[in-house]
Amino acid sequence: MAEHPDDERAESVTGLEPITDETVLDRCRAGTDAVLAEHDPRETFGWDKRDAKARFGDVTDEVSALQQRLYAEGERALLMVLQGIDAGGKGGTIRSVMNQLNPAGVSVHGFGVPSEEERAHDFLWRIHAHTPELGKIAVFDRSHYEDVLVVRVKQLVPESVWRGRFAHIRNFEALLDDEGTTVVKFFLNVSSEEQRERLQDRIDDPEERWKFRAGDLDDRALWDEYQAAFQDAIRETTTDAAPWYVVPGDRKWVRNLVVALALRHHLRLIGPEYPPAEEDIEHIVVT
Ligand code: AMP
Ligand code: MG
Repeated sequence: MAEHPDDERAESVTGLEPITDETVLDRCRAGTDAVLAEHDPRETFGWDKRDAKARFGDVTDEVSALQQRLYAEGERALLMVLQGIDAGGKGGTIRSVMNQLNPAGVSVHGFGVPSEEERAHDFLWRIHAHTPELGKIAVFDRSHYEDVLVVRVKQLVPESVWRGRFAHIRNFEALLDDEGTTVVKFFLNVSSEEQRERLQDRIDDPEERWKFRAGDLDDRALWDEYQAAFQDAIRETTTDAAPWYVVPGDRKWVRNLVVALALRHHLRLIGPEYPPAEEDIEHIVVT
């Protein structure tokens, strides 16, 4: 991982050892043997809430500056994939993190139940159409991973089909990387109790009720099956070119800062530069 002298260290109010940003990302980055049960959804990394919110502002300022260069350079792109259970915070993450960026350089696309036309194609057809053009950041709210998650849990295709998709996904993401698009994937890891509270809040709040669907409870009843499917998908598709991060999701301020840190990390690795100006313009005086 690249060293950055300006990396701030989060001081813990509880007197624990300060933890570096690199350590946080290392702990969230999933390996091919990832065990979801070992990732605590309530993890705080010893951060203090007020400090973390302030740091979120600083980190997203840098993300925004890097985005500006990515856009100006126009040679690389970044695709951010968000996966998680219902009420897992995908929408909230998009609002918080993307709010800080130049809207001209970002696209957000949500993937719901496939249409008839989409179902008449291979599962990556509708996905590829929304990958970012060079210079841009695209965010997927759900993605091709649904085709090895809900599709597996609800047994919409035979096992031989969804299992074969892991290799297709690895190859697809390697293709994107080779052609200029860095892929970074986030699993928002929310506990069962936290999901219960959030779903109840949705039902109780007239302004949130529209988000609730009875099907959410059917999916909640399949909790263990979904967790197993997430774990397999993460293990099977986490690669150097397209890593998975398991983000502690119960506390929104932790979640937002982790996602921002990962985004900054990958944009720094891309290292976009402003293109050179036209020659001999520095002497021009605009009258
Ligand atoms: P939401 O994100 O709340 O708008 O819900 C979108 C719904 O679409 C979720 O219930 C997903 O499980 C479902 N969905 C997304 N992709 C697929 C897919 N490829 N096959 C079946 N269902 C899907
Ligand atoms: Mg939903």
